[in-house]
Amino acid sequence: MPPATKRKRGEGQWALGYREPLNKNEENKKNDDGLNVRRRILDVYSKAGFDSIDPADLRGRFRWFGLYTQRKPGIDGGKTGALEDEELDDRYFMLRVRIDGGQLDGAQLRTLADISVKYARGTADITDRQNIQYHWIRIEDVPAIWEALEAVGLSTMEACGDTPRVIIGCPVAGIAADEVIDGGPQIRDIYDRYIGSPEFSNLPRKFKTAVSGCTAHCTVHEINDVAFVGVVDDESNTGYQAFVGGGLSTNPMFAKSLGVFVRPDQVHEVWKGVISIFRDYGYRRLRHRARIKFLVNDWGAEKFREVLEKDYLGYALPDGPEPAAPLPNRDHVGIRPQKDGNFYVGFAPRVGRVNGELLGAIADLAQRYGSGRVRTTAEQKMVILDVPEENTAPLAAALAEHDLQVHPSTFRRNTMACTGIEYCKLAIVETKQRAMDLVDELEKRLPGFDQPLSINVNGCPNACARIQVADIGLKGQLVVDENGDQVEGFQIHLGGQLGATFGKKVRGLKTTSDGLTDYVERVVRNYDAQRADGESFAA
Ligand code: SF4
Repeated sequence: MPPATKRKRGEGQWALGYREPLNKNEENKKNDDGLNVRRRILDVYSKAGFDSIDPADLRGRFRWFGLYTQRKPGIDGGKTGALEDEELDDRYFMLRVRIDGGQLDGAQLRTLADISVKYARGTADITDRQNIQYHWIRIEDVPAIWEALEAVGLSTMEACGDTPRVIIGCPVAGIAADEVIDGGPQIRDIYDRYIGSPEFSNLPRKFKTAVSGCTAHCTVHEINDVAFVGVVDDESNTGYQAFVGGGLSTNPMFAKSLGVFVRPDQVHEVWKGVISIFRDYGYRRLRHRARIKFLVNDWGAEKFREVLEKDYLGYALPDGPEPAAPLPNRDHVGIRPQKDGNFYVGFAPRVGRVNGELLGAIADLAQRYGSGRVRTTAEQKMVILDVPEENTAPLAAALAEHDLQVHPSTFRRNTMACTGIEYCKLAIVETKQRAMDLVDELEKRLPGFDQPLSINVNGCPNACARIQVADIGLKGQLVVDENGDQVEGFQIHLGGQLGATFGKKVRGLKTTSDGLTDYVERVVRNYDAQRADGESFAA
């Protein structure tokens, strides 16, 4: 029997008999599976237009296929939360394409570029989960976009919604000279078996997966709902340690290790067990408590493992080692060796912002200097694979002509930003352009600074840009300026470190957006002046 939770009041756990919907979201999901909206988009909405869309689909089930209405232009951050959905909704959509493991071939990247130019006014952002996100999508164009994506093996299915989202993976899986294990086959295994399956299309909330075997730990396993991280056991077998219950947002928690050893061929079974526990025991009453981290926190890793093994797997997993400590820079920027004698070249667009034309140019360069294969990363960066040594320098020079740096400043390398008020209905402040300006200015003001210092910029109290685990986390909100006026600004969080500590909100420490660069410059100069050799910002 599964362990009893401490809470007396039911929290909507299906396994405990709470099958009746306890809120509007659960009711919508019960009324019709999110996956069924695809047919209506193809047959009805794309033909009859925006006004024909059922509101329950528009603000609910559309997410099962990566579609969100974007924010109506011109509504300032002070109105966020105060307006009804209809007043905030634009008639255009954000569309997220899932790129599991960040793996793209030349044809796929060209297709993504073409869609951007043809249907998305040239927009394209690389998200911190390796997706590509478009804006300005019209409902009328969705069928043609899907057709183009599906022709090259890409999809928007379960890119958003209460579903198993994109499975993030190391961008250099299978090729890095120093990897512990290639996680690519396990990502494909999970995808082929379970993505789009009605078995897991009605979860309490989103479910994020990471699988990686690289030494950099670039998939940030500590903040995923479930993660498999490459390890080697005492008998030199390679496999995975499993982590569950990580997540940021308003109650940040690091994932807990289950202390097991998972063979590569067992990964899909363990994944299925974990997501099934979430589906059955996840708290559906309150949306802000519906992530698996709350369940894991209440049960503890030991009980979670017991339930997983006894009630879902039907066998016990052996104990397994913990992964080795990560490298200081948890990314794949730069020129590094592959197993086969070629090199991979990782480069840094500023805060993940690219565009259709640029994606097309990157596809050309990948074909000319490599094999055409490209990867997106969980740090909003990109990597071109299979580059012969003699091509690495010309490729780096060609990328630099597009302002894509192979050896970027620490600011360009380590700054991330979420979507922000430009398109996001929850946003209070502008983020992308603000962060790009911040990077440019810091590069000018602090040209010699080379410590690995992360700056993450969020447009609201959510955590899409992971502010809680940044050295300098900036949470968008309205602040009062020196004239007593409410203006855009940021609450400062300092000293976050993945897997170790969440950044501390420094009471009263806020800056206006206009004062942001001066503020960050001061913090960086102080740290640089006072740090001991090798001392990180968080230490
Ligand atoms: Fe939108 Fe807030 Fe997420 Fe930024 S952090 S993308 S503003 S929800």
